[in-house]
Amino acid sequence: MRTDLPEITSKLPGVETTIFTVMSELAQEHGALNLSQGFPDFDGPPQLLERVQHYLTHGFNQYAPMMGVPALREAVAAKVSALYGLTADPDAEVTITSGATEALFCAIAAVVSPGDEVIVFDPAYDSYEPVVTLQGGITRHVPLHPPDYRVDWDQVADLLSERTRLIITNTPHNPTGTVWQAGDVDALAQVVADRRMFVLADEVYEHIIFDGQEHQSLCRYPELYARAFVVSSFGKTYHTTGWKIGYCVAPPALTAEFRRIHQFVTFTSNTPVQLGLADFLSAHPEHHLTLGNFYQPKRDLFCQLLEGSGFRAVPSAGTYFQLLDYSAFSDENDMDLAMRLTRESRIASIPVSVFYAQPPDHRMLRFCFAKDDATLRRGAEILCSL
Ligand code: GLN
Repeated sequence: MRTDLPEITSKLPGVETTIFTVMSELAQEHGALNLSQGFPDFDGPPQLLERVQHYLTHGFNQYAPMMGVPALREAVAAKVSALYGLTADPDAEVTITSGATEALFCAIAAVVSPGDEVIVFDPAYDSYEPVVTLQGGITRHVPLHPPDYRVDWDQVADLLSERTRLIITNTPHNPTGTVWQAGDVDALAQVVADRRMFVLADEVYEHIIFDGQEHQSLCRYPELYARAFVVSSFGKTYHTTGWKIGYCVAPPALTAEFRRIHQFVTFTSNTPVQLGLADFLSAHPEHHLTLGNFYQPKRDLFCQLLEGSGFRAVPSAGTYFQLLDYSAFSDENDMDLAMRLTRESRIASIPVSVFYAQPPDHRMLRFCFAKDDATLRRGAEILCSL
């Protein structure tokens, strides 16, 4: 170790390696069935793979425009218009990013300054708070509780202060699999009305929603959209999480500041995948509408197979995650149990308490059901044998 280097004063001293990496590595180390990190064990649509391959092998391998290829921005604008009735200008309101993760980073960095407060709902996706902290912001947590994980809007109102700058929403919600109802959006609208606040809507699971429910995109609500960054991910929608392409739709003034940051985070995202996605979105606008019907039987299969086991499930209303309450089975804390099950029983899951600022008093593990039916059967078999 050299002694002439300055010490690094971490800007994220309490932050450890993300749980998704920890659990996937542990699963690999122990040869465990990996139902932890959220990714499908099947491929994206063949026509999409073909289009990307086409662009890869036909010379489309140089920088894309900073805000994303025009055809893909136009396809996103067409989608939000068709689904949510929002007329978004692809040149001024749509930016393609390197995954939703980058979009979340740029949106938070665009509006949060030192001392600003940001409201999140726990269990909260783990990338939000570190980015707030990096901007010098302070994260305020509103805990959600099982079985329904509904927002207590009075509690949100109590947390508001002169310094509240941003509220981060996520529906369908990772990790609980709950979805917002229209009443939640009305309550959000009341909370932000007449306040100098922005909203960051993490809608990466917008198309994975079950039982005939409608996704409450903030794109549907002009009053809220006027102050919102709406973020989504092609990785979830097209079973291609490794491609890391997402987007942000936001009004022109917000997008301008967003791009000011985006251009120096990644500048732009990879060209052949953007072009392939643009072709596929235009040719198969029906694909994303089929995702609910595609994933719902997987949710049902997984829950059904677990009936009679030591795990209790309230069927997920959206996302490809299922929470299992294991309180009847064990009183270990969820981190210890998730680790032990990976090592000893060869099945990996995600402990939910890591997404809470204050440890919750319930016991839940999250399992990803974006898997072939054979994989789900194998997983359920292990869980039923415990
Ligand atoms: N969003 C995915 C999940 O919840 C993981 C993403 C990641 O690994 N960073 O499992």
